[in-house]
Amino acid sequence: MKLQKTIKRSINVQGVGLHSGRKASVTLHPAKAGSGVRLIRTDIESPSEILATYEAVIHTRLNTTLGTEGKGIATVEHLLAALKGLGIDNVRIEVDGPEVPIMDGSSEPFVKALIEAGIQEQYRSKKVVVLRRRVELKVGEKWAVAGPGEGLEIHASIEWDHPIIGYQEFRYREGETAFSEISRARTFGFLKDVEALQKIGLCRGGSLENAIVLNGTEVVNPTGLRYADEFIRHKVLDALGDLQLAGFPIQGSIRLHRSGHELHRMLVKAIFSDEKNYEIIESTVVRPEKLEEEATDEGLWMPAAAVAYN
Ligand SMILES: [Zn+2]
Repeated sequence: MKLQKTIKRSINVQGVGLHSGRKASVTLHPAKAGSGVRLIRTDIESPSEILATYEAVIHTRLNTTLGTEGKGIATVEHLLAALKGLGIDNVRIEVDGPEVPIMDGSSEPFVKALIEAGIQEQYRSKKVVVLRRRVELKVGEKWAVAGPGEGLEIHASIEWDHPIIGYQEFRYREGETAFSEISRARTFGFLKDVEALQKIGLCRGGSLENAIVLNGTEVVNPTGLRYADEFIRHKVLDALGDLQLAGFPIQGSIRLHRSGHELHRMLVKAIFSDEKNYEIIESTVVRPEKLEEEATDEGLWMPAAAVAYN
């Protein structure tokens, strides 16, 4: 049985917002077992807390944005992927503006911060979304198939008419593939698109510091690639982050081709559209419910109480 996890102490991470180009900061706090991943904007008056689920998604163009129009939080996916990769279920995330900092375009800086904060097991077992039936989606050349499987497997492929990318595929098996195999993979874009996006006020913070940038024939970044197949590794990382929007870890086998944030959102929605597709399983609750109310401010149970009931 796996226990739920949170972080041991609050931690702040600062960087630049990819789209606004402005300074952006997130502060992560420990949270009670069962509370999930919740985000809140601290820069607006009377903000509402956003539970990170597919139902809270409002945009999927170039990033995943959660919340409500005008009060959304963009670029949540790499942070969600970091939480998923480290098995963190419960955390409260304060964001001081409309987007999570892009950092280096991967999940690695968030992973480092979370490890520095420390990971705390909580006295309640994880809830898991176990896939029971095959779910398929096809949108143009993009497609996704999800179905039963042991643990979580994401097998993704892409095909780009570009000499550096071409056809790439990567298979991630939770528990077998080290998370570091994908957490360091950066987002990528094409020079011509970056210029066009900046003209319409998007991607203002985009630079060689936070993305792999390609021109017609090669990688523009002087430091090159971290992996020859960094592109597909990043696609798997995006999928891992977006699938976190199921609300609980998914157990099943996922096959993706040319997928992106919108297809990931549609896939999670399709899974939950029919109760026969999945089952939410929680193994034995370790703590009596009553003890939940005795949680400390950080949402953690005191070790002494744990000893008494074990
Ligand atoms: Zn990404």
